[in-house]
Amino acid sequence: MNADELRLIPLGGLGEIGMNCLALEQGQDIVVIDCGVTFPSVDNGSDILHPRFDYLLERRDRVRGIVITHGHEDHIGAIPYLLDEIDVPVWAPAHAMGLIKLRLGEWQFDLDALPLKTTHVGQTFRVGSFEFEPIRVTHSIADATALAIKTAAGTIVHTGDFKLDDHPADGELTDEARLRELGDEGVRLLLSDSTNVDARGTAASEREVGDELAQIVEGAETRVIIGIFASNVQRLLHLGDIAMRTGRRIVLLGRSVMNHVRVATSVGRLRWPSDLVVAPDVGQQMPRREVMVIASGTQAETQAALARLSTGEHPRFKLDEGDLVVFSSRTIPGNDRAVYDLYGAFLRAGMQVVSRATHPRVHASGHAHRDEQLRMIELVRPRSFLPVHGTLHHLHRHAELARDAGVDDVLIAENGDVVTIGTDRALAKNGRVPSGRVYTLDGTAISDEVLRERTQLGRKGVLTVAIALDDRGALASAPALACYGVVGPLERDVLVRAERAVEHAVDVALKDRVRPEELVEAARLAARRVIDAHTGQKPYVLVSVLREDRR
Ligand SMILES: [Zn+2]
Ligand SMILES: [Zn+2]
Repeated sequence: MNADELRLIPLGGLGEIGMNCLALEQGQDIVVIDCGVTFPSVDNGSDILHPRFDYLLERRDRVRGIVITHGHEDHIGAIPYLLDEIDVPVWAPAHAMGLIKLRLGEWQFDLDALPLKTTHVGQTFRVGSFEFEPIRVTHSIADATALAIKTAAGTIVHTGDFKLDDHPADGELTDEARLRELGDEGVRLLLSDSTNVDARGTAASEREVGDELAQIVEGAETRVIIGIFASNVQRLLHLGDIAMRTGRRIVLLGRSVMNHVRVATSVGRLRWPSDLVVAPDVGQQMPRREVMVIASGTQAETQAALARLSTGEHPRFKLDEGDLVVFSSRTIPGNDRAVYDLYGAFLRAGMQVVSRATHPRVHASGHAHRDEQLRMIELVRPRSFLPVHGTLHHLHRHAELARDAGVDDVLIAENGDVVTIGTDRALAKNGRVPSGRVYTLDGTAISDEVLRERTQLGRKGVLTVAIALDDRGALASAPALACYGVVGPLERDVLVRAERAVEHAVDVALKDRVRPEELVEAARLAARRVIDAHTGQKPYVLVSVLREDRR
């Protein structure tokens, strides 16, 4: 390795949206930038997916720390999983740190024993041989930062998630002056957020969203229910102001909304008067036009507040005909059908529904559109460019944007690629490391084998075969077969045929004095062959052999 070589190893977020995690390596030091999760797109009983950490775990003595850009789940969610394996310090802005502590507390980490360090914009800190400077960027969550990092190869800038909005609710603008200054000093490499590369122009300002929501709430004579992404602190700021202006009290529904309000308040990002929020049962008794409900579950998550409100099954709050439900959110691709069903459930119950479809300004993205991405490149003027945070499609389009803007050295990399760069050596790929997703449930990893089994069970159903052997090792009775979730005309006579086939196969196997596992396999194949022949199905076959012991 050359002395000026910097290695960048994306473990998540390159080639996908979400689960952002990037390792930087130089000399004997490794530092991790962001450590996020993603959520399953299929229902296989998992709840959270985090990056494979093999690369870090195999070099655990050289990992100097984790540096966080902001508090979204796709940037902080995997921290407990990694800290479970290695003891390293975590640096994060105050708001993200509040959320990290909440999560680590739930995981029963001893917070006082952990080296958790709060970062501040403009204040540099060292992690191993790297020097970091957090820079303010505007985003949908509060206290988001980009990072300028002094490395062996030169200064690199990582944008984190950002947008350029002249009027964010918290008044914290992306620090374009500092970014330009860094550009003047010379930036070796820019890594920039590709999420919205398909969106033309610039993202709408949060101020327009605030104005639109204010108008909607002012015109409402009933309860107003606002669905938001729980972490959207910019939106919470506006909603608090609107509630106060229109004489409404706020009811918070959903654990994630309550957690985010609590954390944002504790770090001074949300300064609501103490009587603004009322408990659900108090709000339920108040006149309808004095209540604003803020609820989570805009993606129609089945257990979330909005879904339960739509069916009248929320345990702590009921809506009435005429109440106004506002989806101040976008629909994440893939959730469209479920979200339309949720709109339908509200409409069926007599509520009014407002969404981006009817009022385009009820939501604005927290991610830069193309013109803002271009402006970032023009401010920083990097010699090299590596697009991050996007599927391969997004990375390609962002790379093209950078080339058009005059950056000569542009590379597209995906999770697991080892990317190298030197002071004068261009970006290059040098091999691959293990990468991918670890499926977990309640904090515990689910093995690939279990996932495969679950997929098979769900797709094909299961056939159980019970074989009883007597104390001499002969069949004690006819095998018993039962089916669960198997499609097709599986009439009684098919099962009887399968039972006979199994009985025959077991008899033959016993005569041949085969090993126990061969007996099981013979029974499995015999059962499966009959079911397949009569129904065209190949269910998952589970064979149990019971042996009677002479006592
Ligand atoms: Zn974010
Ligand atoms: Zn993100």
